[in-house]
Amino acid sequence: MSARILVVDDVPANLKLLEARLRAEYFEVACVNNGPEAIEICARGQADIILLDVMMPGMDGFEVCRRLKADPRTAYIPVVMVTALDQPADRVAGLEAGADDFLTKPVNDIALFTRVRSLVRLKMLTDELAMRVASTDMGVDPLGRDVPTGENGRILLVDDRPSSVNRITTTLAAHHKVSVEANPQEALFLAADRDFDLAIVSLELEAYDGLRLCSQLRSLDRTRMLPILAMVSPDDNTKLLRGLDIGVNDYLMRPLDKNELLARVKTQVRRKRFSDRLRDTVQLTLEMAMTDGLTGLHNRRYLERHLTSLVDQSLTSGKPLSVLILDIDHFKSVNDTHGHDAGDDVLRAFTDRIRRSVRGIDLACRLGGEEFVVVMPDTDESRAMEVGERLREAVAAEAFTVADGAALWVTASIGVATLSFSSDTPQSMLKRADVALYRAKNEGRNRVAAAAA
Ligand code: GH3
Ligand code: MG
Ligand code: MG
Repeated sequence: MSARILVVDDVPANLKLLEARLRAEYFEVACVNNGPEAIEICARGQADIILLDVMMPGMDGFEVCRRLKADPRTAYIPVVMVTALDQPADRVAGLEAGADDFLTKPVNDIALFTRVRSLVRLKMLTDELAMRVASTDMGVDPLGRDVPTGENGRILLVDDRPSSVNRITTTLAAHHKVSVEANPQEALFLAADRDFDLAIVSLELEAYDGLRLCSQLRSLDRTRMLPILAMVSPDDNTKLLRGLDIGVNDYLMRPLDKNELLARVKTQVRRKRFSDRLRDTVQLTLEMAMTDGLTGLHNRRYLERHLTSLVDQSLTSGKPLSVLILDIDHFKSVNDTHGHDAGDDVLRAFTDRIRRSVRGIDLACRLGGEEFVVVMPDTDESRAMEVGERLREAVAAEAFTVADGAALWVTASIGVATLSFSSDTPQSMLKRADVALYRAKNEGRNRVAAAAA
């Protein structure tokens, strides 16, 4: 995972050390020795994550962090504060300044790479989501008002030490909702059954192997995307490395530092929310690309994709396939007389009548304007003509009531074509139905015409 890391420290030796280790892991690294320059680089969009020294002459790390978080252009760049071990108060100040995580000097490799990877993932998700939304114009702003915050997380805590459980639940209570489960098998059921934003798993359970639970959480479909924060003791690097291998997202060393706990939980909850949002956005984009906004029917693009496979299925099975093209008669005069909104009302009500007259396996689409297509598997020409006639009748038999209360009498003309196994492509079948539709129009409208073979 390549990402651009900005390291900020006033001591050249510290910069060199971090730079060398990050480069060895193939990160791109930029180094600066003061706050104002760091802010400039971030404002130009040239950093994915910042490692920020607290103690610097001039502008200190807290002030740099505050300014980055106050500027919408840079607020989403994760900031890791690099603090001295003997200054726990720095963490409180760092959290207040908006820092996303902490590293303690001297920085050890596991801590460095775990923090950096975890935050780079978060940054990639925010970037991806921002890009998608910008390119699809969906009228939602995921980085604006309703941005995922990392607060109010639903957290599953798997721990069997009463004192530890007590400490964690007390620390998190003001910000999150915590469910505690000491038994990992129960925890696995719970995680699969309910929607959690994060699992915090002790790797030092009395009777169970916490790593096994982590691995099971990673392999179940329902829990694969659930972030895991592991709790380990400082003397157990082997277990920690196994955990990170299995896919644990981040870890906390015992004894737990409250502020680290708060920061890491917040980061993981945000990451989960962003990835949920991204998935919903992709889903919505797909649906929007395939659906007509006015009527909720499938659109032309969807029809084009699916008609091909329906034709293939029909050729394989030897079962007939028919299409109807419907076009509302003199629709322009509806708009001209009653307004465009009334026209839209008629289009929606027309859609309802189509829906009521076709089967579940039939594919109804809006081609555009006041033209619709219904594709009917397992339907020969005489059956298709019956359906066409039923539709024509359903439109003409009853007036359409529009928003201003007016009752409009509307008719439609319909062309019918049935797949010729010897000579048709999806396009030629539609074309023949279209020619039949024009004949229906020419012969007086409000009628159904079959295509010539
Ligand atoms: P014909 O009987 O020959 O089909 O006549 P027509 O007036 O229905 O056909 P024409 O193609 O001349 O006009 C179609 C009209 O449909 C013109 C356009 O303003 C209207 N229209 C297309 N899309 C929409 C829409 O989404 N909403 C509304 N209200 N009207 C639409
Ligand atoms: Mg028309
Ligand atoms: Mg038309």
